Amino acid sequence: MHNSRVPSLPGVFVLWREAQDTYSRSALGGVYFLLAWPLTWFFSSDPQALLLPGLIGVLVLLLLLYLRINHPVPRDHNEAKLQRWLVRHWCLMHATALCWGLLNALALRHESFSESEIIALMGTIAFGTAIVFNFSMRKQQAYVALLLIFTPGLLVLLFDWREQYPLLISLLLYLTYLSLALKFSHRAYQRNLNMELQLLSQQDKLDRLSRTDSLTQLGNRYQFNSLFPVLLSNAYRQQQPLSLVLVDIDFFKQINDAHGHACGDACLTAFAERMRQYFRRASDILLRVGGEEFAVLMPNTTLEQARLLADQFRHKLAQEHFAVSGLHLVLTASVGVGSYSASADDNPEMFFKRVDDALYRAKHSGRNCLHVAELPEPPAAQRMDLTG
Ligand code: GH3
Ligand code: MG
Ligand code: MG
Repeated sequence: MHNSRVPSLPGVFVLWREAQDTYSRSALGGVYFLLAWPLTWFFSSDPQALLLPGLIGVLVLLLLLYLRINHPVPRDHNEAKLQRWLVRHWCLMHATALCWGLLNALALRHESFSESEIIALMGTIAFGTAIVFNFSMRKQQAYVALLLIFTPGLLVLLFDWREQYPLLISLLLYLTYLSLALKFSHRAYQRNLNMELQLLSQQDKLDRLSRTDSLTQLGNRYQFNSLFPVLLSNAYRQQQPLSLVLVDIDFFKQINDAHGHACGDACLTAFAERMRQYFRRASDILLRVGGEEFAVLMPNTTLEQARLLADQFRHKLAQEHFAVSGLHLVLTASVGVGSYSASADDNPEMFFKRVDDALYRAKHSGRNCLHVAELPEPPAAQRMDLTG
């Protein structure tokens, strides 16, 4: 089954995955800005004289990192919320990119940084590269971030182009390469995302198949086994009734023997369809729990309601024939009905057994009838209290 923390709708999943990737990568990346700037500052020729820009840079980068880390992905899987979150988070990342771009420009412009401007330049190249390969999920936003990181420094170099043209040309060439690489990186991210989506949908399909009976398209025994305890504990917690109907077709072997297995299969399909027509509440869960045995799990349904419906079904079944393989066949069924009792049923198995015993009694009292699951007798002391 799907992990409930992973959205199942493809549109939401795509946004959720993008938001998760953006968040985890931006939290990690933010730390490196906080390494690069102090290094540029400390290794400048006069860190004390540069105290003000040095400290302002550290504080702004620290604040932006704090804001990014404290902006977690929304927990509820809502498309509009995720979209809003991504826009806000990209604003924070653009602010960080601009901050770095300005600090890099300062390092290139200010003479006291001449010994450490190489650290700032390495940072610019590294952060630009990281944007391209880690944040290519939103191509346009990534382009903007690249420009914010590079442009202030490039403008400083352009201002002094006669002396700086080798560096200016090299940086421009690298920026061109990054812009091209971003296209490929974006495509690769989309491809991975599509593959993940396909995998999830295959998983979903397989999960549904493993819980569906291929002949009748009702839930199968595995589905029954996984749903039954869950519905039971829901009923217990919410103090709501839960009824169970077990239906076993009478003398079904004779149908196979007389008309062949294919005809028997067609009967089972038609029988399941007839059940769908009777047990129509959206909350009713119909299952094929054995060869010619069926179950209906009925949440929020009292014993009396379940008994009436099941008996009506049984009654009509015996009156209305099935047109199968050119034959008109009448099927009857034996039915056991019970309602969960917190005092009598310590576990799902005990409840099932009570209803199964009722079905067994229906079989042994001549078939084509309905028996209600009995509740165990109260202990003798309690019985005496009740009788006076
Ligand atoms: P009873 O009234 O005691 O329930 O008799 P019955 O013949 O219905 O029960 P029994 O358990 O003796 O036989 C069940 C039959 O159901 C035997 C088996 O061939 C048939 N059956 C089980 N699964 C399928 C199936 O998928 N297709 C077909 N055609 N027959 C099936
Ligand atoms: Mg049977
Ligand atoms: Mg049978």
